[in-house]
This record gives sequence, C-alpha cells and structure tokens, in this order.
Amino acid sequence: MAPARIIDGKAIAAKVRGEVKAEVDRRRAKGARAPGLATVLVGNDPASHTYVKNKRKAAAETGIESVHHELPDATTQAELLALIATLNADVTIDGILVQLPLPKHIDDRVVLRAIDPDKDVDGFHPESVARLVLGLPGFVSCTPLGCLRLLDEERVELKGARAVVVGRSNIVGKPMAQLLLQRDATVTIAHSKTRDLPAVVREADVVIAAVGRARLLKGDAIKPGAVVIDVGINRDAEGKMCGDVDFASASAVASAITPVPGGVGPMTIAMLMQNTLTSHARRLGLS
Ligand code: NAD
Repeated sequence: MAPARIIDGKAIAAKVRGEVKAEVDRRRAKGARAPGLATVLVGNDPASHTYVKNKRKAAAETGIESVHHELPDATTQAELLALIATLNADVTIDGILVQLPLPKHIDDRVVLRAIDPDKDVDGFHPESVARLVLGLPGFVSCTPLGCLRLLDEERVELKGARAVVVGRSNIVGKPMAQLLLQRDATVTIAHSKTRDLPAVVREADVVIAAVGRARLLKGDAIKPGAVVIDVGINRDAEGKMCGDVDFASASAVASAITPVPGGVGPMTIAMLMQNTLTSHARRLGLS
C-alpha cells in the first residue's frame, strides 16, 4: 500500500488565516470597523502566556484588533466577572477569550457562563454547546472545527462514513462527534472505559484521536485506507513531541494522516480567527 498522504495543517491554517485577512480587508474597505477580540489572562502560567501571545499574533496578522487584559493571580472571581460584563457591553468587541486554566479560587464554569454567547468565540458556553447539538447558528470549539476543516480540505466524504472519535472531553471529543454527526457520518465515541479500543477504531473510515496518551493507537488499529486526525499533544519517554497515534505504523496503513506537530495544532488558532470573523459579520449584520 502507498504510504499515507500527510495532511499539512500548517499550510491549511495559513490558508484559513489568509482567507480571514482577505475578508477583514474587504469589510474594512467598505467602511466597517475592525473585528475585535478581547483576550483575558489571569495569573502567571507560562504556557497560557505563550498561547495568548500566539493568538494575539494571529489576530494582528489577520487584521483583527486584539485587546488584551492581563490580571494578577489574586484577582477575585467578582473582579473577573465585572471585566467580562464590560466586554459583553463593548460594541467594538466581537469575541471574548478567557484563557484557561484559571487560578483555583475562580470557578471557570461560572466565568465561561458569564460570556455573552454571541461573543463566545471559544464555543465553551453551555448555550453554544446546545446550539451545536440542536444545529443552530453558534460558535463551535476551535480544535474540532479545525479537524473538520482538515477533513474538508482533504475532500474526505463524511456522509455515511464510519467515524470513531477517541476521547470525550467537552472541548474536543464531544463537539467533534457532533460535527461529524451533523455531516451525516455514523459516529462512535470511544473513551477510557471502551472495551477493546483497537477493535472499535479498526471499524473507522475516519479516526479522530483526542486522548492525551503518547502513541496509544498503533497501525494495527487502523483500517487500511482510513483517514487519521491526531489531536493529541504528548511528550514521549525521550521528551519528543508526539500524538496519540503511532505515526510510523499508522501512516503505513492510513490513506491520509496528520503529523504531530504540524497537523491539528496550527488549526486551533486559525479557527479562533474564523470564529471572530463570523461574530463580526453577525453582529454588524453583514452576510
Ligand atoms: P482530556 O484529558 O480532557 O480528555 C481525554 C479523553 O481521552 C477522555 O475523554 C478519556 O475518556 C479519554 N481517554 C483517556 N485514556 C484513554 C484510553 N486509554 N483509551 C481511550 N480513551 C482514553 O483531553 P482533551 O482536552 O480532550 O485533549 C486530548 C489531547 O488533545 C491532549 O493530548 C491535548 O493536549 C490535545 N489537545 C490538542 C489541541 C490542539 O490544538 N491540537 C487542543 C486541545 C487538546
């Protein structure tokens, strides 16, 4: 069998950012204000600082104005909720992103619920999740949305396909399964209690792995010709970054596969830009 096509997430993410920028430029040329994204960071988690920096960089590149709010670790929940209320009311802000994790004394569920669902570009608000399940317009979590875009770019036929999503987290596995269902795939969600995981995954024409276990799925769990999207970001015993799929053995069996790094990773931020653009259009009544 020919080795799998490598799905180039870096290139596809650059294409998405290019599309966002072109659309922002088009709207600005017609006199619209720039899309606005508020980023909120509480505390000193170094990884969170890097994530927010990268999101703001992508915003700048695409013509989205990002307004950053950096709050000390000692910020109270009430203070954070007050900031969110201000951002909800600010007509120049289309998207509000509160970087997780929050310090332990703040309940992230309360904070995420305080964000106006019409500005919930991360898609974490219960209202956004309900809209996704009901098939209503709303915002979808950026990582699964990015996975779907990769499948679309690869022209993978989802209608009637058997799809297995491994992992049932609220931010990746569950919304991913909903998106695939919406596209008429026959969807199975596998998780830590699934019996004989390889046998379940072997049924799949499309595999989405979102587990967080280095190289959990080997080539013998992949149906010949399947398309494999690997969301996992792990470090192996040697400290090398790797996915949830054993790339070497799986790429010998799959028809197409995402690498780690350079697959799903770059898509998440690109889809955040796209969600912000969508919010801008909805809020300004543009089509
Ligand atoms: P999570 O820990 O919230 O969920 C993991 C899921 O995997 C759980 O539902 C659990 O049931 C399942 N699971 C655990 N062990 C299992 C096993 N042995 N067999 C089958 N299922 C098992 O994680 P998450 O937030 O969904 O993230 C999953 C992975 O994706 C992580 O590696 C994370 O770093 C990565 N991630 C990447 C991006 C990106 O932008 N590329 C974004 C989010 C998450």
